[in-house]
Amino acid sequence: MIREPLAAGILGRAITCGTLDVEVHDLRDFTTDRHRVVDDVPYGGGPGMVLKPDPIFRALDTIKAARGTPLTVILTSPQGRRFMQAEARRLSRLEHIVLLCGRYEGFDDRVRRRVTEELSIGDYVLTGGELPALVILDAIARFVPGVVGDEQSVADDSFSRGLLDFPQFTRPAEVVVDGTDTADSLTMRVPDILLSGNHAAIRRWRKREALSRTLERRPELLASATLDDEERELLRELQDGRFAE
Ligand code: SAM
Repeated sequence: MIREPLAAGILGRAITCGTLDVEVHDLRDFTTDRHRVVDDVPYGGGPGMVLKPDPIFRALDTIKAARGTPLTVILTSPQGRRFMQAEARRLSRLEHIVLLCGRYEGFDDRVRRRVTEELSIGDYVLTGGELPALVILDAIARFVPGVVGDEQSVADDSFSRGLLDFPQFTRPAEVVVDGTDTADSLTMRVPDILLSGNHAAIRRWRKREALSRTLERRPELLASATLDDEERELLRELQDGRFAE
């Protein structure tokens, strides 16, 4: 569940080039019994199984001894603080991170004593921590220099400055939808300004679109967004226009 996604795309390339160093450990390798048991029934009864603390502690000790550095240990959990873009940027500056993936009913609560943070990827419950760990790793990796080819694209992304990204278009400049689904055929054109070659006007249009999208879809983000003078002026215009409507 972890190794195959890590072999693909941008992450796969970054790992092959050595820009990212990711190791996957199987908790069963840190058990001491013949059946390599990592889970047990919950004390006090109830459904499901709980991940035992001792294999996890042995795994953390082994990783710490190999790395020789203090560990940042992240427990994936629906009870954790919400993982956001700002967290991804902060974590990308750390030398080394351990991500713990739970299963079943989750971890024996004593594991939390060895954890530096507990992160949730959203208010829903998944069957295991593998997908959350991959989500967290992918979002962090995009901030590591050299992982994404053009770093400006990361800086422009949604949430990077507290705004959603502006709409993107590519060739062809015109697409005709034949009307099979809609009864009428429809010609969809790229906004003229993007074909104008006027870079100052395009930059301003993109700022306006990013603000307009954020205002429409996620207005609460604007309260903490970092805006320049031009964006503040554009936002005022958009808000006035909205009010007038
Ligand atoms: N009983 C736990 C609870 O309600 O808090 C849920 C355990 S869940 C079925 C199993 C594992 O999936 C968790 O230990 C965690 O590693 C992972 N997981 C599930 N949902 C998650 C989320 N929203 N964010 C991060 N990790 C999650």
